[in-house]
Amino acid sequence: MVNIGVLALQGSIVEHIHSLSLIEGINPCEVKSVSDLEKISGLILPGGESTTMGKLIKDFGLNEPIIKRAKEGMPIWGTCAGMILMAKEIVNENYVHLGLMDISVRRNAYGSQLDSFNSTASIPVISHEDIPLVFIRAPWVETAGEKVRILTRVNNRIAAVQQDNMIATSFHPELTTNLVFHKYFTGIVKKYLKT
Ligand code: GLN
Repeated sequence: MVNIGVLALQGSIVEHIHSLSLIEGINPCEVKSVSDLEKISGLILPGGESTTMGKLIKDFGLNEPIIKRAKEGMPIWGTCAGMILMAKEIVNENYVHLGLMDISVRRNAYGSQLDSFNSTASIPVISHEDIPLVFIRAPWVETAGEKVRILTRVNNRIAAVQQDNMIATSFHPELTTNLVFHKYFTGIVKKYLKT
Protein backbone atom coordinates (compact mmCIF):
# COMPACT_ATOMS: atom_id res chain seq x y z
CA MET A 1 0.00 0.00 0.00
CA VAL A 2 1.17 3.54 -0.77
CA ASN A 3 0.62 6.03 2.08
CA ILE A 4 -0.66 9.37 0.81
CA GLY A 5 -1.24 12.05 3.43
CA VAL A 6 -3.78 14.85 3.64
CA LEU A 7 -2.78 17.81 5.80
CA ALA A 8 -5.50 17.51 8.45
CA LEU A 9 -5.51 20.83 10.27
CA GLN A 10 -8.41 22.60 8.51
CA GLY A 11 -10.40 22.43 5.27
CA SER A 12 -11.59 19.74 2.83
CA ILE A 13 -9.80 16.88 4.60
CA VAL A 14 -12.45 14.16 4.63
CA GLU A 15 -13.27 14.79 0.96
CA HIS A 16 -9.66 14.18 -0.12
CA ILE A 17 -9.38 11.13 2.17
CA HIS A 18 -12.58 9.75 0.60
CA SER A 19 -11.36 10.30 -2.99
CA LEU A 20 -8.01 8.61 -2.18
CA SER A 21 -9.78 5.70 -0.48
CA LEU A 22 -11.49 4.88 -3.80
CA ILE A 23 -8.12 4.32 -5.53
CA GLU A 24 -6.72 0.83 -5.34
CA GLY A 25 -3.42 0.41 -3.52
CA ILE A 26 -3.63 3.77 -1.71
CA ASN A 27 -3.76 4.14 2.06
CA PRO A 28 -4.98 7.70 2.83
CA CYS A 29 -3.53 9.14 6.06
CA GLU A 30 -4.33 12.26 8.04
CA VAL A 31 -1.23 14.38 8.67
CA LYS A 32 -1.21 16.47 11.84
CA SER A 33 2.33 16.01 13.13
CA VAL A 34 5.93 15.62 12.03
CA SER A 35 5.78 11.89 12.77
CA ASP A 36 2.67 11.56 10.52
CA LEU A 37 4.65 13.34 7.79
CA GLU A 38 7.48 10.82 8.05
CA LYS A 39 5.13 7.92 7.20
CA ILE A 40 3.82 9.25 3.87
CA SER A 41 5.11 9.29 0.29
CA GLY A 42 2.91 12.10 -1.02
CA LEU A 43 1.00 14.99 0.59
CA ILE A 44 -2.19 16.85 -0.31
CA LEU A 45 -2.77 20.36 1.05
CA PRO A 46 -6.59 20.71 1.00
CA GLY A 47 -8.83 23.64 0.25
CA GLY A 48 -10.01 25.78 3.14
CA GLU A 49 -8.73 29.05 4.49
CA SER A 50 -5.08 29.62 3.65
CA THR A 51 -4.39 32.14 6.44
CA THR A 52 -5.74 29.73 9.09
CA MET A 53 -3.99 26.73 7.59
CA GLY A 54 -0.73 28.66 7.19
CA LYS A 55 -0.85 29.67 10.86
CA LEU A 56 -1.65 26.12 12.01
CA ILE A 57 1.19 24.66 9.89
CA LYS A 58 3.59 26.91 11.80
CA ASP A 59 1.97 26.24 15.21
CA PHE A 60 2.24 22.48 14.64
CA GLY A 61 5.92 22.80 13.61
CA LEU A 62 5.21 21.49 10.11
CA ASN A 63 6.50 24.37 7.99
CA GLU A 64 10.17 23.39 7.72
CA PRO A 65 9.53 19.61 7.65
CA ILE A 66 7.08 19.99 4.71
CA ILE A 67 9.53 22.24 2.82
CA LYS A 68 12.35 19.73 3.47
CA ARG A 69 10.33 16.74 2.18
CA ALA A 70 9.21 18.70 -0.89
CA LYS A 71 12.81 19.63 -1.70
CA GLU A 72 13.81 15.96 -1.30
CA GLY A 73 11.29 15.17 -4.04
CA MET A 74 8.16 14.04 -2.20
CA PRO A 75 5.11 14.87 -4.38
CA ILE A 76 2.83 17.59 -3.01
CA TRP A 77 -0.51 18.74 -4.40
CA GLY A 78 -2.28 21.88 -3.20
CA THR A 79 -5.97 22.50 -3.96
CA CYS A 80 -7.27 26.08 -3.79
CA ALA A 81 -6.07 27.32 -0.35
CA GLY A 82 -3.38 24.64 -0.75
CA MET A 83 -2.23 26.38 -3.94
CA ILE A 84 -1.89 29.64 -1.97
CA LEU A 85 0.19 27.83 0.67
CA MET A 86 2.59 26.58 -2.03
CA ALA A 87 3.07 29.87 -3.93
CA LYS A 88 6.30 31.89 -3.76
CA GLU A 89 4.23 35.07 -3.92
CA ILE A 90 0.66 36.11 -3.06
CA VAL A 91 0.20 39.31 -5.06
CA ASN A 92 -2.53 40.79 -2.87
CA GLU A 93 -0.99 39.86 0.51
CA ASN A 94 2.35 40.72 2.04
CA TYR A 95 3.26 37.27 3.35
CA VAL A 96 4.21 33.86 1.98
CA HIS A 97 3.50 30.45 3.54
CA LEU A 98 5.57 27.50 2.24
CA GLY A 99 6.84 29.28 -0.88
CA LEU A 100 7.49 26.01 -2.71
CA MET A 101 6.34 26.72 -6.27
CA ASP A 102 7.58 29.36 -8.64
CA ILE A 103 4.14 30.93 -9.07
CA SER A 104 2.50 34.14 -7.97
CA VAL A 105 -1.17 33.80 -7.07
CA ARG A 106 -4.03 36.17 -6.39
CA ARG A 107 -6.29 35.23 -3.46
CA ASN A 108 -10.07 35.36 -3.96
CA ALA A 109 -9.24 36.37 -7.52
CA TYR A 110 -12.57 35.78 -9.22
CA GLY A 111 -14.37 38.51 -7.24
CA SER A 112 -17.78 38.54 -5.65
CA GLN A 113 -19.93 37.74 -8.70
CA LEU A 114 -17.92 34.65 -9.50
CA ASP A 115 -17.02 33.74 -5.92
CA SER A 116 -18.10 30.18 -6.57
CA PHE A 117 -18.76 28.55 -9.92
CA ASN A 118 -18.47 25.29 -11.82
CA SER A 119 -16.72 24.75 -15.10
CA THR A 120 -15.20 21.94 -17.16
CA ALA A 121 -11.90 21.63 -18.95
CA SER A 122 -10.14 19.19 -21.18
CA ILE A 123 -6.67 18.56 -19.78
CA PRO A 124 -5.04 16.02 -22.11
CA VAL A 125 -2.14 15.21 -19.76
CA ILE A 126 -4.67 14.20 -17.08
CA SER A 127 -7.56 12.64 -19.02
CA HIS A 128 -9.15 12.42 -22.47
CA GLU A 129 -12.56 13.33 -21.07
CA ASP A 130 -13.73 16.76 -19.92
CA ILE A 131 -13.07 17.20 -16.21
CA PRO A 132 -15.59 18.93 -13.87
CA LEU A 133 -14.04 21.85 -11.99
CA VAL A 134 -15.44 23.41 -8.80
CA PHE A 135 -14.19 26.89 -7.84
CA ILE A 136 -14.92 28.31 -4.35
CA ARG A 137 -13.46 31.77 -3.64
CA ALA A 138 -10.56 30.51 -5.67
CA PRO A 139 -7.14 31.98 -6.39
CA TRP A 140 -5.72 32.13 -9.89
CA VAL A 141 -2.09 31.96 -10.94
CA GLU A 142 -1.00 35.38 -12.10
CA THR A 143 2.55 34.51 -13.22
CA ALA A 144 4.39 31.22 -13.56
CA GLY A 145 8.15 30.71 -13.79
CA GLU A 146 9.94 28.94 -16.64
CA LYS A 147 10.00 25.57 -14.89
CA VAL A 148 6.26 25.61 -14.30
CA ARG A 149 4.06 23.65 -16.69
CA ILE A 150 0.60 25.12 -17.21
CA LEU A 151 -1.94 22.28 -17.11
CA THR A 152 -5.06 24.31 -17.79
CA ARG A 153 -6.56 27.78 -18.05
CA VAL A 154 -10.16 28.66 -17.17
CA ASN A 155 -11.60 31.99 -18.36
CA ASN A 156 -8.09 32.74 -19.68
CA ARG A 157 -6.61 32.43 -16.21
CA ILE A 158 -4.11 29.77 -15.20
CA ALA A 159 -5.95 27.31 -12.95
CA ALA A 160 -3.65 24.26 -12.71
CA VAL A 161 0.14 24.00 -12.75
CA GLN A 162 2.89 21.48 -12.22
CA GLN A 163 6.51 22.02 -11.29
CA ASP A 164 8.45 18.75 -11.06
CA ASN A 165 6.98 16.88 -8.04
CA MET A 166 4.44 19.58 -7.20
CA ILE A 167 0.94 20.32 -8.51
CA ALA A 168 -1.40 23.15 -7.62
CA THR A 169 -5.03 23.57 -8.69
CA SER A 170 -7.31 26.58 -8.15
CA PHE A 171 -10.28 24.22 -8.06
CA HIS A 172 -11.41 21.28 -5.91
CA PRO A 173 -11.35 17.81 -7.53
CA GLU A 174 -12.12 16.38 -4.06
CA LEU A 175 -15.59 17.97 -4.22
CA THR A 176 -16.51 16.04 -7.37
CA THR A 177 -16.91 12.32 -8.00
CA ASN A 178 -14.27 12.50 -10.73
CA LEU A 179 -11.03 10.85 -9.60
CA VAL A 180 -8.71 11.68 -12.51
CA PHE A 181 -6.69 14.31 -10.63
CA HIS A 182 -6.27 12.03 -7.59
CA LYS A 183 -5.19 9.23 -9.94
CA TYR A 184 -2.74 11.55 -11.72
CA PHE A 185 -1.22 12.55 -8.37
CA THR A 186 -1.08 8.92 -7.26
CA GLY A 187 0.87 8.14 -10.44
CA ILE A 188 3.41 10.84 -9.57
CA VAL A 189 3.77 9.39 -6.06
CA LYS A 190 4.34 5.86 -7.45
CA LYS A 191 7.03 7.17 -9.82
CA TYR A 192 8.70 8.95 -6.89
CA LEU A 193 8.78 5.69 -4.91
CA LYS A 194 10.60 3.98 -7.80
CA THR A 195 13.40 6.58 -7.87
N1 GLN B 1 -10.36 31.93 -0.39
C1 GLN B 1 -9.62 30.94 0.34
C2 GLN B 1 -8.26 31.47 0.77
O1 GLN B 1 -7.87 32.49 0.34
C3 GLN B 1 -9.43 29.69 -0.49
C4 GLN B 1 -10.77 29.05 -0.74
C5 GLN B 1 -10.77 27.57 -0.91
O2 GLN B 1 -9.80 26.85 -0.58
N2 GLN B 1 -11.87 27.07 -1.39
O3 GLN B 1 -7.59 30.87 1.54
